[in-house]
Amino acid sequence: MQQKVLTGDRPTGPLHLGHYVGSLKQRVELQNTSSQTVLIADLQGLTDNGHTPRKVSDNILNVLADYLAVGIDPERTTICLQSALPALSELTMYYSNLVTVSRLQRNPTVKAEIASKKFGSSIPAGFLSYPISQAADITAFRATLVPVGDDQLPMVEFTNEIVRKVNSVAGKEVLVECRPLLSKVSRLPGVDGLAKMSKSLGNALTLGSDETQIRKAVKKMYTDPGHLRVEDPGNVEGNVVFTYLDAFYPEEAYVQLLKDRYERGGLADSRLKAILEECLQELLRPIRERRAEFLADKAQLTDILRAGTGKAHSETEGIVQGVKAAFGL
Ligand code: ATP
Ligand code: MG
Repeated sequence: MQQKVLTGDRPTGPLHLGHYVGSLKQRVELQNTSSQTVLIADLQGLTDNGHTPRKVSDNILNVLADYLAVGIDPERTTICLQSALPALSELTMYYSNLVTVSRLQRNPTVKAEIASKKFGSSIPAGFLSYPISQAADITAFRATLVPVGDDQLPMVEFTNEIVRKVNSVAGKEVLVECRPLLSKVSRLPGVDGLAKMSKSLGNALTLGSDETQIRKAVKKMYTDPGHLRVEDPGNVEGNVVFTYLDAFYPEEAYVQLLKDRYERGGLADSRLKAILEECLQELLRPIRERRAEFLADKAQLTDILRAGTGKAHSETEGIVQGVKAAFGL
C-alpha cells in the first residue's frame, strides 16, 4: 500500500535551513512515491501567539512560498491550511477527553519550549495541549509516515497513544498508527551553534536570506576556540562550520578531506568559512529567487492554498464521523 505522509510547519516566520535539511528536502522526494499532505499549522502557531496573531497570519503565504521555492509541487502534494479544516479542531476536542493534564506536562519538547518561552505559571491552555491538535492533524489524514525533526518524536509517540485509546474505546480499528521519518540532520543548531535553529529564537538563516545575511551569518560562526594559528591542529567535534558542511556540502568525501586537514593543522578558519559560504550561497540563490517570484503573485498563492485545502476538507470529514461513532455520538 502507498505510504500516506503528513507533515507541516507553524507559520510563525519564514522557513529556515533547519526546515530544509530536517524535513523539506525529504518532502520533495516523498511526493514522487507517496500520497503527501503538508499542513500550514496556523492554529498551532496561535498557541503561543494568541495576543500577537498577525505574526501568524502574516506568515501563511511566506511559508507557502517557501514550500514552492524548494520544489514542493501542489500537483503532487496537497498543501492546506489548518484553521480552514474544522475536522482538525473537532478531533482535538474528542481526543482531549482521553488525555490527562499530567501526560501533557511530561512531554519533553513542550517542557523545553515552556522554559525557553518563559511562560512561568501563565502557560496558555492551547500551548500545553498542542500535541493533541497535532495528533488530530496526523490521524485526520490517516497518515502512516511523518517526516519531522527530532523535537517532534514525542508528538508522534503521543499520537500513537491516542490512536490506541480511540481504537480501544471503539472496539475496532478506527485510526491508524504512524511512524516518524528522521532525516540525516534531524536537529540543525542555530547559526550560533547553540539551541536548535528555530524561528522563535532569532538564530535562524531563512530560505529567503540575501547574500549579505548569509555572509554575515557564516562570518560570525564559531569554529574551534583553540585553533589560533593556521598550523595548529583544530577540533572538528562541536565546530559549527563543520556541522553545517556535514549538513549542506554535496560531497561527503571532500568534507572528510577538510576534516582531516583541519585536525592535522594547516587549514585556516577563513578558508573553511569561504567554502561553507559559497555552498550556502549556491544552495539559497535559486530558492530565494523562486520564493520572490511566488510572493509577487499573492492571488496565485491564495488559489493554490484554497485548492489544496478544499481537497483536504473532503478527506478529513470522514474521519470525524468514525471518531464520533467511537464515542457513540
Ligand atoms: P517555532 O520556533 O515557531 O516553533 P520552528 O523553527 O521550531 O518554529 P516548526 O514549524 O515548529 O519550526 O517545525 C516544523 C518542522 O520543522 C518540524 O518537523 C520540526 O521538527 C522541523 N524543524 C524545525 N527546526 C528544525 C531544525 N533546526 N532542525 C531540523 N528540523 C527542524
Ligand atoms: Mg517548533
